[in-house]
Amino acid sequence: MECADQIFAGNTDVIIVGAGVAGSALAYALAKDGWRVHVIERDLTEPDRIVGEFLHAGGCIKLAELGLEDCLDGSDSQTVFSFAAVHKDGKRSAISYPSNASGRGFHYGRFVQKLREKAASLPKCLSSKRPILLWIRIRDVTNQRSCEHA
Ligand SMILES: Cc1cc2nc3c(=O)[nH]c(=O)nc-3n(C[C@H](O)[C@H](O)[C@H](O)COP(=O)(O)OP(=O)(O)OC[C@H]3O[C@@H](n4cnc5c(N)ncnc54)[C@H](O)[C@@H]3O)c2cc1C
Repeated sequence: MECADQIFAGNTDVIIVGAGVAGSALAYALAKDGWRVHVIERDLTEPDRIVGEFLHAGGCIKLAELGLEDCLDGSDSQTVFSFAAVHKDGKRSAISYPSNASGRGFHYGRFVQKLREKAASLPKCLSSKRPILLWIRIRDVTNQRSCEHA
């Protein structure tokens, strides 16, 4: 069944637009909890952007809580125990994580692809490659599930 058909047939509980870090992780978490999730992404090829290639310790902990920590494997990831800030006047400060915590530096595109694959591996998570040009207005979610789109 086509993406829009699935949605209008009422086979979807949650629509997520964008399968970046946030959308993919959210899709995985919701589908794991039994929600029927539909992810709409304009480009499912491996992103080639120099963004988001570092996750602080807090992010790594959250990733593990979601069961997604293995997505960092194979993305050329490096464990980071502390980092340094260089001030305008040239002074340096070292910032360390608590002893049992670490951050990870990695290749953004490979990390995102792993998140997408992991989300797509769940039966309740479907993904479609398309930009969201669809404007969906749900008039009555509880009774009619009637939708308008343009
Ligand atoms: C230069 C730079 C460096 C950064 N470095 C870091 C860093 O080291 N650590 C860090 O935590 N954060 C960093 N960030 C911020 C980082 O970009 C975000 O933390 C992270 O990518 C946000 O994830 P996201 O899922 O919200 O958005 P994105 O990763 O941008 O994902 C959005 C997704 O939505 C899709 N999309 C967008 N519009 C549509 C549409 N209309 N229809 C369908 N799909 C659509 C896109 O294709 C994309 O896949 C950096 C940002 C920049 C600009």
